[in-house]
Amino acid sequence: MNDETQRTGHIFGPVPSRRLGRSLGIDLIPHKTCTYDCLYCQVGHTTDKTAARKTWVSVDEIIAELKEKLSSRPDCITLSGSGEPTLFAGCGELIKKIKQITDIPVAVITNGSMLSDKQVRSELLDADIVVPSLDAGDEEIFQKINKPAAGITFDEMLKGLIDFRSEFKKDKYWLEVFFIVDLNDDDAQVEKMAACIKKIAPDKIQLNTVTRPPADDVKPVSRERLAEIAEKFGKNAEVIADFKAGQADSEFNAKDDDIVEMLKRRPCSLEDVAAGLKTPMNEALKHIESLIKAGKIEAVRQNGKIYYKVV
Ligand code: SF4
Repeated sequence: MNDETQRTGHIFGPVPSRRLGRSLGIDLIPHKTCTYDCLYCQVGHTTDKTAARKTWVSVDEIIAELKEKLSSRPDCITLSGSGEPTLFAGCGELIKKIKQITDIPVAVITNGSMLSDKQVRSELLDADIVVPSLDAGDEEIFQKINKPAAGITFDEMLKGLIDFRSEFKKDKYWLEVFFIVDLNDDDAQVEKMAACIKKIAPDKIQLNTVTRPPADDVKPVSRERLAEIAEKFGKNAEVIADFKAGQADSEFNAKDDDIVEMLKRRPCSLEDVAAGLKTPMNEALKHIESLIKAGKIEAVRQNGKIYYKVV
């Protein structure tokens, strides 16, 4: 195995993403720091709910890690991770510096709450793809679903999304809308959201729903209802919910167990794991990264080569 397949401190992947291709992720935020505490969050409840921006790591440190991974030739470099990436105060500097070392497109996946801040908006102008969220058509549902930090209001959040549209001249401003049964899928709420979306004027509207275990007990909206809502949102709307994800998760966990069993017998390289699972190397790497993150296995270097072993 060579260095490009290692996970480094803040960089993960490339991982396959339906929207972004092979995406090399940059996790800038400590788990779990966010401006929201969404009912549907898949990375657990927010433990540090804040709208205060901070620099948790130096931009140069991230750039050094990123340089090590560029040979993996991702389709996209994505600022995302286990919290709200725009809370990282060095976002603008980071995007600028990424642009100086590569022409791979930079995407930012954000909940959009910080776009009400002019400084944040100006920092994201150098990104190529910006994907904010909107899950409500009014303050009441916004509070119920997103549970924002004190001081963040629905009207200000919406204004930030609209203002960014007028400043971001590129054609990849994609709005993600997440639906939950009995919370925001009724006609009245859908109409309110449609009116907001008209004002935001994103290039695409992507409809999603619960397909993996969320932070709270919330239920998915059916594929049929999402298709109906997409019609109401207009021709730029599409359903991106991966209804096979739940099934895929159980297959994923079964393969994780196989890897742990394999590594209990002897440390293995990425190639050994891929051959053992009869799976492509990028698939095997996803499992390895997930197991490292879960603290079940670790990477060790021996004779210049990386092996994995159980912790
Ligand atoms: S904005 Fe994203 S990271 Fe934050 S709580 Fe919501 S889903 Fe989780």
